[in-house]
Amino acid sequence: MNTTDLNKIGEFGIVDFINSKFKNTRSSSIVGIGDDAAIINSNKENLIISSDMLIEGVHFDLSYTPLKHLGYKSVVVNLSDIYAMNSYPTQILLNIALSSKFSMEAIEEFYDGVKYACDDYKIDLVGGDTTSSSSGLIISGTALGYNSKDNIVTRDNAKPDDIICVSGDLGRAYVGLLVLQREKENFIKNPKIQPSLDNYKKLVEKQLKPNARKDIIDFFYKNNIKPNSMIDISDGLSSELIHLSKSSGLGFKIYEEKLPMSLDVISTMNEFNLKPISAVLDGGEEYELLFSIPIKIFEKLNSLDIDITPIGHFTKQKKNLFILKNNQEIDIKSQGWNHFIQ
Ligand code: ADP
Ligand code: MG
Repeated sequence: MNTTDLNKIGEFGIVDFINSKFKNTRSSSIVGIGDDAAIINSNKENLIISSDMLIEGVHFDLSYTPLKHLGYKSVVVNLSDIYAMNSYPTQILLNIALSSKFSMEAIEEFYDGVKYACDDYKIDLVGGDTTSSSSGLIISGTALGYNSKDNIVTRDNAKPDDIICVSGDLGRAYVGLLVLQREKENFIKNPKIQPSLDNYKKLVEKQLKPNARKDIIDFFYKNNIKPNSMIDISDGLSSELIHLSKSSGLGFKIYEEKLPMSLDVISTMNEFNLKPISAVLDGGEEYELLFSIPIKIFEKLNSLDIDITPIGHFTKQKKNLFILKNNQEIDIKSQGWNHFIQ
């Protein structure tokens, strides 16, 4: 395929292309791409703002990441943090640094994915920066949202005996990454063998094209439920649990038998000779929501049809305990999980 050299297009050409592709849809987006800064109208009392970076070679590998998926994911990872505050993102800014290996067609593919995500989540791309990089692709996003103080949920307000819940199931994004890395190695060893990902579709999809759980926030507002504390799972369940418990000055008990794990996570981890539970506890990039609610409210939630699983509860006692199926208790402050789980 003939590709168009970015040197011919130039920075302004790239920005013009982006500008032509994105139209503001939110009434709060007063000025978007095109001026020195965006102008956002805010009637609510609090601005919620969060940034995330994705670096080639650290956060993604372009040999198995389609640029369209990467564009989508670059938006989603930023939105997820705003949803984790029980709030709705409305605008995003996306900065990109490009090396000379990228063509205009590559940029178009990337922004196709960005556009899909903006449409899916009904947000506006209102700005960014475009610059060159001496090595690979760097993406930095900043998402904005607005909410009243009373509706925002933070990490530091969990209460003793709160039920700890998680949306969806855990581990698929991590196992998907293992599969992609294995296929890449096989391909390098023998380029004639085409990667076979059919059996791992849902795993690979969660790694390459994650969802932010807007539907869970919709569900909370629709049913008048407000969690006491919440965080999104970007680094892994165990570290996010520790963030919540530390911020709230509590401990927790989590039960192995309760953890939501899909069958393909179990079978694929077994294929790799790894413990399935470690994908669930330490697998990153899930973008599921981890939150706590009082038991009374949990009872209400339990009768409603939503993929939320209770996995344990917070405790006054500042111990972070993982209860194995055989009732053995592991204190995860003093020892890591993996050391103990056979
Ligand atoms: P300045 O030189 O004043 O910083 P730029 O030429 O970098 O302005 O940007 C011009 C406009 O284009 C601004 O509104 C900026 O937000 C937007 N823009 C630049 N790069 C991007 C990008 N990658 N994505 C979206 N908007 C961009
Ligand atoms: Mg300027």
